[in-house]
Amino acid sequence: MRKGIIENYRAFLPVTEATPVVSLAEGDTPLIEAPRLAAWLGVGAQLRVFLKFEGMNPTGSFKDRGMTLAISKAVEKGARVVMCASTGNTSAAAAAYAARAGLACVVLLPRGEVALGKLSQALIHGAQVLGVDGGFDEALCLVREITGSHPVELVNSVNPFRIEGQKTAAFEIVDTLGDAPDYHAMPVGNAGNITAYWKGYKEYQSAGRATRTPRMLGFQAAGAAPLVDGAPVLSPKTIATAIRIGNPASWAGAIAARDESGGLIDKVTDEQILEAYAALASTEGVFAEPACAAPVAGLKMLAARGFFGDAPATVTVTLTGHGLKDPDRAIATAATAIREVASTRDAVLAALDMSEIQPAAAVMAL
Ligand SMILES: *Cc1c(COP(=O)(O)O)cnc(C)c1O
Repeated sequence: MRKGIIENYRAFLPVTEATPVVSLAEGDTPLIEAPRLAAWLGVGAQLRVFLKFEGMNPTGSFKDRGMTLAISKAVEKGARVVMCASTGNTSAAAAAYAARAGLACVVLLPRGEVALGKLSQALIHGAQVLGVDGGFDEALCLVREITGSHPVELVNSVNPFRIEGQKTAAFEIVDTLGDAPDYHAMPVGNAGNITAYWKGYKEYQSAGRATRTPRMLGFQAAGAAPLVDGAPVLSPKTIATAIRIGNPASWAGAIAARDESGGLIDKVTDEQILEAYAALASTEGVFAEPACAAPVAGLKMLAARGFFGDAPATVTVTLTGHGLKDPDRAIATAATAIREVASTRDAVLAALDMSEIQPAAAVMAL
């Protein structure tokens, strides 16, 4: 039975008997082995690749793990209103968990830059949605200012309860594999999640649940890569809207995760991201939103450089959000498009490419 991350990992989280648990049964997401993707990456012979598919959370992204705790703690302290800035998924999660708790929710979004699925979620869950004339970084500044001077609870990942909840994904990976992987790859935007995973892996090792920690491999989009370039980016640009962030709030946490783990943070172009996005969906049947393809593209780049050497190793990849969040991008990127035909047998057969079908039929005839 899915009980949600607070009940599953209570001993590792800052909750007491007095904390009202606001949950949508988040977490417990699948860890899917991906041999066909490993072959596409060019590491099929020696790397086992596992996808932590966070798109399977209740609102379709990992943000639910942090939000169940942030909203539970907000209710515990008597808050009535929560607020966040968002590239989309934080607002979807905040709106859903606030609705479940009976709290009011205000979200600030960069105008015109939020994927359709995410926007629809914030609206249908009843949040007050404001589209600001600026990017995520400006929106977060406004939220920090307003929540600092009003009795409104901030639920962005600068809220430490968000990080605490999100670290449970690392616990689940270790619980499933029996130990930590050799490498953990993930997209990096505001950098809360890489901070959270690293915290989770370290805590599990300290608790004796894992014998080691993985090398953390973070990937940013080339047009929004402040951690790689070493300075904030004033107008970040990438089609991966979830990581279109120029000045990550958890900058120090990301650098610590990289350096303490012996890992790296690198960047990939939008072209590489889109190629990996389509490859993931077509080789493994796993549909994740574009930001999730950044680590996939990053692994391919590292493999081409010989980064992984020849020793067998295990790599886990966080797919942070579901592909259905951004249907426009999928339709624009897919190698195929819908074709219209008359509703007759001949028209349907004439329109089909039978070249893939005939060899199979020939084999059957033998
Ligand atoms: C929020 C988000 C990210 C970035 O996570 P950070 O904690 O901001 O680094 C990546 N992918 C998706 C789908 C997201 O929703």
